[in-house]
Amino acid sequence: MAGGWSTTKVAILGVTVFALSLTIGVLAGYFGRRVPETANSSPDGVVLTGVTAKIISDADPRISKLLLNEISAENIRQNLKDYASHPHLAGTPADLQQAEHLKQTWLEQGLDRVDILGYDVLLSYPKDGDPNIISLVKAGTTVFESQREEKELRPEDIHPEDKIVPPFNAYSPAGDVESNRLIYANYGREEDFHWLSVNKSVNFTDAIVLARYGKIFRSNKVKLAAELGAKAVILYSDPHDYTSPTDNSSYPNSWWLPSTGVQRGTVKRVDGDPTTYLYPSLDSAYREDASPIYLRFQLIQSAMEMLNSFYTYLAKSKMVLVKDLYSPSFACYIRLGGEEVPESWRGSIPGVTYRFGGEFPESDLKVKVHITTHNVRRKTYNVIGYIDGAVEPDRYVVVGNHRDGWVYGSVDPSSATAVMIEASRALTSVMKSSNWRPRRTIVFCSWGAEEHGLVGSTEFTEHFSKILGQKAVAYLNADIALEGTDFMRFKASPMFYPAVMAAAKKIPNPNPAEVAAGRTTAFDTWLYHIPSDDPTKPRVFAVGSGSDYSSFLNVLGIPCLEPRYTWNYDKWKISSYPMYHSVYETFFLMDNITDPGFKYSKAVTQVWAELVRDVSDAMILPLDAKSLSDYISVESKKIFSKYGDSMRANNLTSDIEYFNEAVTQLQKDVDDFVASTSQINKDNPYAVREVNDKLMNLHRNFLDPQGLPGRPIYKNILSSPSQFNSYAGAVFPGITDSLHRIEINTDPDKWKKVQKNMSIATYLIGSAASSLRKSTHFTRTE
Ligand SMILES: [Zn+2]
Repeated sequence: MAGGWSTTKVAILGVTVFALSLTIGVLAGYFGRRVPETANSSPDGVVLTGVTAKIISDADPRISKLLLNEISAENIRQNLKDYASHPHLAGTPADLQQAEHLKQTWLEQGLDRVDILGYDVLLSYPKDGDPNIISLVKAGTTVFESQREEKELRPEDIHPEDKIVPPFNAYSPAGDVESNRLIYANYGREEDFHWLSVNKSVNFTDAIVLARYGKIFRSNKVKLAAELGAKAVILYSDPHDYTSPTDNSSYPNSWWLPSTGVQRGTVKRVDGDPTTYLYPSLDSAYREDASPIYLRFQLIQSAMEMLNSFYTYLAKSKMVLVKDLYSPSFACYIRLGGEEVPESWRGSIPGVTYRFGGEFPESDLKVKVHITTHNVRRKTYNVIGYIDGAVEPDRYVVVGNHRDGWVYGSVDPSSATAVMIEASRALTSVMKSSNWRPRRTIVFCSWGAEEHGLVGSTEFTEHFSKILGQKAVAYLNADIALEGTDFMRFKASPMFYPAVMAAAKKIPNPNPAEVAAGRTTAFDTWLYHIPSDDPTKPRVFAVGSGSDYSSFLNVLGIPCLEPRYTWNYDKWKISSYPMYHSVYETFFLMDNITDPGFKYSKAVTQVWAELVRDVSDAMILPLDAKSLSDYISVESKKIFSKYGDSMRANNLTSDIEYFNEAVTQLQKDVDDFVASTSQINKDNPYAVREVNDKLMNLHRNFLDPQGLPGRPIYKNILSSPSQFNSYAGAVFPGITDSLHRIEINTDPDKWKKVQKNMSIATYLIGSAASSLRKSTHFTRTE
């Protein structure tokens, strides 16, 4: 419509003028009230009557000490007893019961608000009374059937009403599959399958793959086997990876996995509810049918065609009954022939010669897997508790831990649930005793259904992606708080390096032998066991996936950290703590074997609480830009030293130069930013907020809206889970994934893909640099 005022426009103008005058009136009234008539302020004076002095005060150093002193080992023990004495699998009645219990506890502690948020999601369980089993069938007759559950080893662990889910892998499809070809594929890593294909010409089509747990995330093993055409995967825990070579004892006498233990887990490869991929599972949500979802995500579909989760044995090449060997529960007798495997492929099942397998010599012998695992819609619950920030309530320090466990879950996750509840109690107790309140809002999150594939945390971050994406300062995770007592280790985004080291330096060493050796703090023992190239700094591990930080880091670009007490990796070459995801993760295990007295659990609570305090209360956020630019510089040099020659030989010389220029530019901008930050007027809340916003958002510059190639959910091009092991973090995953095994990659566009990923990274490093400049200078002026 051209010319003249339409009645609509006039009406809009009228409403606008009215709204404006109303706003001006309200503002005038507001400031009229706030500015005291008698204010003897100069034009530069402070006139914000009614605004607390806290606005221009830095954190009170006394609070840190009070907080550390407040934490009680006995409380942690009691919390663990409360949460790990009965099974608490996601989607079962215990999910809501524990959520309600926690809500009540947090309200009693004095949190300002506690909500329970339920999401109706797709979960997965084996069929009641018809568990997954493996069998051997000879001439149509079952000659062996595996046991159906893990043996009860300590009757006091199990209450009569406890319902223990039999071993299974979530989201495996149901079905019966058989084959007379069983192939041993070591850990089921890409290099293992590749080695078998190239050196032994193994054809996996329609075979059943036997792989040991460990080294990489189980679903990556299943995916690789599926892509090669295998019918099923049998995963088992080899004693080599979960027991001691020198100590034959096991639970309930020691920390080592008994032969009856089985690892459960998920094989789902998308985070969250797969029927509402990328969106929250709200009541109003559109849900895909299961089948189109699986068709859309081809890799998932292949994974879903796989069967898995059996604990079994390799036996000698003549048929023997292996019931007395490592795992009576899922022992089966298997005639595994073929050549003997190389040394590094051998496990340590007593009396077994490890062979590659292949076709059974007897044509009428078959291995059969029977899977009843199926998907069901169930509710899982997040509990969200708030401590409102005194000065910046709209800046969120999100603190989380999952609540669901496969069975008793005393290590994973309840060791951390116990820690989180004591940390929140200590914080609220110090608030009451000292009239203190953190500067920023702390949001405590107890997640549901993490074990099924990060379901609760993913649905929450999808639900509140805008608020969190814009205003969450950091996410502090704890999953397994304590799995061993040799030293503390951290996973953290590089911006957190100085903060985690400073916190660890404040924690008294709970190990008297370490103190006697002159290592008086948790930091000292950490540095001693995990040194970095810098002799004054311990190594911090990359945050990958495999826990609830994934969507915060990989989707929203929020800096994350996670503390843990762990075992000495140099001493025990095991794949995870031995009892991982088995029925033997009991309160007894923690109380009597792993951490009697809970003094190591106390230390991890202290460090976590101290970090929560620091991030929520420091006037300038304890996020370090220099650590990030140094990290980018060091890690990119590693990529180019490995691949630089072949990149240059394939016309990527200028791409490397552009990339390196962007990194140099970022370092300059970081140096300028750090220098200017030290000069700001801390009495000016706007100047403080400007610096903090730059720090908070720096990490978000690395988000690429289209996501990583083939993995649109992961937007963070700086650090996302490795495509080849979802447990591990990869640096510049777009670049390194496209370079992975490029020499044997037959894609004619493979170098174009590297070039594209290089250009995206270069652009986003430049974006990070520009975000730190003087706010009125998008571009750099020398
Ligand atoms: Zn966990």
